Amino acid sequence: MNLREVGAAGQARLRAARVAVVGAGGLGVPVLQYLAGAGIGRLTLIDGDRLEPSNLHRQTWYALADCGTPKAELAAARVRALNPDVDVHLHVGRLNVENGATLLAHHDLVIDCTDNFATKFLINDLAQSLGVTAVFASVHQYEGQLQVVDPTRRSACLRCLWPNATRDGVVGNCAEAGVLGPVPGVLGGLQALEALKILLNLPGRLGDELLTVDLIGLATTRLRARRNAACEGRCELSLLALQRAIDERREVDTSPLELEFDDLPSALAEGYSLVDIREPKEIDESPLETRALCVPMGELLAGRNLPPEGRYLLICARGARSLGTARSLRDRGLENVYSLKGGALGLPERQGRI
Ligand SMILES: [Zn+2]
Repeated sequence: MNLREVGAAGQARLRAARVAVVGAGGLGVPVLQYLAGAGIGRLTLIDGDRLEPSNLHRQTWYALADCGTPKAELAAARVRALNPDVDVHLHVGRLNVENGATLLAHHDLVIDCTDNFATKFLINDLAQSLGVTAVFASVHQYEGQLQVVDPTRRSACLRCLWPNATRDGVVGNCAEAGVLGPVPGVLGGLQALEALKILLNLPGRLGDELLTVDLIGLATTRLRARRNAACEGRCELSLLALQRAIDERREVDTSPLELEFDDLPSALAEGYSLVDIREPKEIDESPLETRALCVPMGELLAGRNLPPEGRYLLICARGARSLGTARSLRDRGLENVYSLKGGALGLPERQGRI
């Protein structure tokens, strides 16, 4: 209240504010700490995960003895202990299409503290259709990104920047790729800061921009994020259309995307062309025993096409990248593309050689 720009009136605004925080992990912990400390009137916590020991280096609000307990419950108890005046609502479970509109409606802000693309794009679409401002952050190893999507100002949304939504499994999340503990701490701190700037109507808030933070070089970059005309209608999908799109995706997903083979010659015998999508260095280290076309994943995702008449079996190391890439190619209209379940490293395991 001592800040001239905030004062008693600003504190009252915070008291009246309703903020939903999706994810109570590495980003969510600093966000919740600062928002509870600031006296936000109502906080809605949404998280379906249970605390694991490997979370603790970046989620330092929790204790080793808490492992196994749902993070939403742990975070709610911590918020209440820090500031009993906060009205805490919690949802132990993932945000999804069925519950998303109910959970996020009637909030002034939603803060995305998740680590997966599917939920980030869902939050984006819900924010657009509900007219709620969203503050997004992502971290990857030693760097992070921050973006504010404000539908009331018609700012650029996630789909404006990434029209072909990135697939989970293509880029590693914290659990897969690793992260230094303070990296989500810094980005979560920035999310809390932007949230307070928005609620207090302070100057300098992030506009149609993407802030990237390199925490090795200690450099920040503000990239212009333009609202994409082609995104009109897509980023403002009504909830009904969103539901329909997801139902359709479910139908498409019922046609198998992953195939299991005991060895590659049997895949060849069934008429599949093998496409090794690993990086050249990985292929050198453990080449396939069968001849395959080598096209790195990045080239396929960047738009390189495979001849439409073929039937393709994509192969990566463990089957995660090939699955994500196969989905992207199906979305581009290539029907006969499949992913080898378990990847190249799974083949000798299945044959009992390792
Ligand atoms: Zn958009």
